[in-house]
Parts: sequence; C-alpha cells; structure tokens
Amino acid sequence: MQIGFRRFDLALRHHWAIATDLGRGGGKSVYPVVFVELTDAEGRRGVGEASPSSQYQETHETVTEFLARVDPSRLSFDDVAGSMAYVEALAPGRYPAKCALNIALLDGAAKAAGKPLCGYLGLGAFVEGRHLSSFTIGIDTPEIMARKTAEAAEYPVLKMKLGSPGDRENFAAVRGAALDRWIRVDANAGWKTKEEALRNIEWLAADGKVEFVEQPMPPELPTAEWAWLKERSPLPLIGDELYQSAADVDRCAECVHGINVKLVKTGGVTRGLEALQAARARGLKTMLGCMIESSVLISAGAHLAALTDYLDLDGNVLITNDPYTGVRNLRGMMSFEGVAAVGGLRVTAR
Ligand SMILES: [Mg+2]
Repeated sequence: MQIGFRRFDLALRHHWAIATDLGRGGGKSVYPVVFVELTDAEGRRGVGEASPSSQYQETHETVTEFLARVDPSRLSFDDVAGSMAYVEALAPGRYPAKCALNIALLDGAAKAAGKPLCGYLGLGAFVEGRHLSSFTIGIDTPEIMARKTAEAAEYPVLKMKLGSPGDRENFAAVRGAALDRWIRVDANAGWKTKEEALRNIEWLAADGKVEFVEQPMPPELPTAEWAWLKERSPLPLIGDELYQSAADVDRCAECVHGINVKLVKTGGVTRGLEALQAARARGLKTMLGCMIESSVLISAGAHLAALTDYLDLDGNVLITNDPYTGVRNLRGMMSFEGVAAVGGLRVTAR
C-alpha cells in the first residue's frame, strides 16, 4: 500500500464564526483540511479527508504529523478492521487523522466489493428524497446574518449559531429573514449555567418554530445540572461536544434527548456507525453533523443517513473550491442521483 496526503485550504463562501471562536480572533475565511489517498499493489484506490477543528485542539499539522508516522504496509483494503486496530494503537486521540484513514480504507474496500459504502456497511441502498440537511448560519452581525438567511432561501431548514452576547438581536434578524422556516439552534456551549440556558431555551420555545437546541452548555458541567435542564427544557436538547463516541452514551441519556455524531470527532465511519447505533439502542435521537468539509467527508456522512433523525451535512455548500464531487445537496435534500461514481464513497476528483 502507498499513502499520499496533502493539505488543502477550503475557501469559505462567507467569513465563519461560532461561539467558541469569539474569544480567539473571531473566526476564519479559509479552512485547511488534509486529503489522504491510499493505493494498493493492484492499483485499487481509496480517498479520505481530515477536517481538523480548533474546538478539539486539532490542526492540519497535528493531522499530517500523525499521518507521517503511519506505516502503509500495515494497511489493507482487504482487512479494514485489522488496519484500523494498527492505526488506533499508534496514539490516543488524533481523531481527524484516524477518520481520514478509516474513510480511505472503507472507500477502497467498498469499491473492491463493487458496492456503495452504505451497501458495504449493511445499511441498504441510499433512499432518495428522504434525507434533508439543514443549512447553517454562523455568528456575525445581525445585518449579515439576515442577508445570509435571505440568500439561503432555497433551504427549508436552517441551523443558526447562538451563544454570543448578541443572541436576541441575531435570532430576531434570522427569524425576520427566515419567515416561517424551521430553525435549529446550536449554542456551542455558549451559555454558562443551567439557569442561563433554561432562560434562553424558554425564550426560543416561544418562537414556535425552533426544532431543537444543540449543546446549550459546556460539556464539563456536572451531569446533575444537565439532568436538571433536560427535565425542564421545553425543547429537545442535542449533545454534540457532549458526545465524542459510543462510550459517552450512558451519560448523554441522562443529559440530553439526542446526540450529534461527526465523523471527524469519532475518528471515522466505523466509529461513527457505532456511535449512532449505540445512541439509537438507548432511545436517543440521532443527528449527523459536519465541520467545514469537502464532498469527501460529506459523502461519507451521507452513506450513514439511514441511521439518523436529523442531518446537518452542509459543509461542502459553505465552500467555493471543493476539489471533489460526490453526494449533492439539492435545496437541502441529499442526493446521489446522477452521480457517476457507483462504488465506495461515490466521489470523483474534479
Ligand atoms: Mg454543534
């Protein structure tokens, strides 16, 4: 097996910020990711992607440093589980890099089996017309947030970032431009106490068309405070920063009504699948989200759509220079219709 990897700077359509960026210079216009390509002796290939987030103390350097340590002779499309056991034992953490390798291995393995990834994973065929993604509005001035909302008129479900001192003005601006569309709210741990979180959730519930609130408080707050909030919350709560992997499922069942899985956070499709299945088994709602990502990671996520109640796979529509094509986002509806590639992730380099 040969391994190749390269940094690539995804260019954002709009300046991007969330609650945790506000104290650190206020967001970004370019988002570096790392693409991994595996090629075996038979010429079979797999592609993967790491989208490292500063929220998890990851950068393109932490990704490439890990990838440089990987001995590609230990990787095989014919033994994804064995390959990943080797990769996961190399170092703790480093989930974005492990994610990229896991996706590349599965892409190659599914192509070798002549199946799309969802079929290879035993999830059946991707069902067209069923999987609607939200479109995310990042934190900015109320005027800019209203303009972004108006520009996103084709997307029936919006997700907006709250958790800044301007929450009330920002929400009013987005609601004014969103008219009667559903809005999902993500506070990214921006409300610091259970009382502050409850006040804000009650205010949002009064709007009547807020679907749920994601990560209202910091994940490190005691479980008892989360349970207090869950008991009183008039809106469903979704844990994102609270849910790293399937191992967190018991705590999340006490804290929230559902969880948000991201492939970059769990370390790939294999662990993401486990995290979704564990949550479903505990009766939690499941959401699949993303970072700023190209069509490689977004397509990988779309193959898991059958295991989700909510999708937030808009990373590739927030950028202007996607070097791959794959699953399409048609007014929020995820679709593989008309996609030429039939096996693996179903992505093609442009
Ligand atoms: Mg989130």
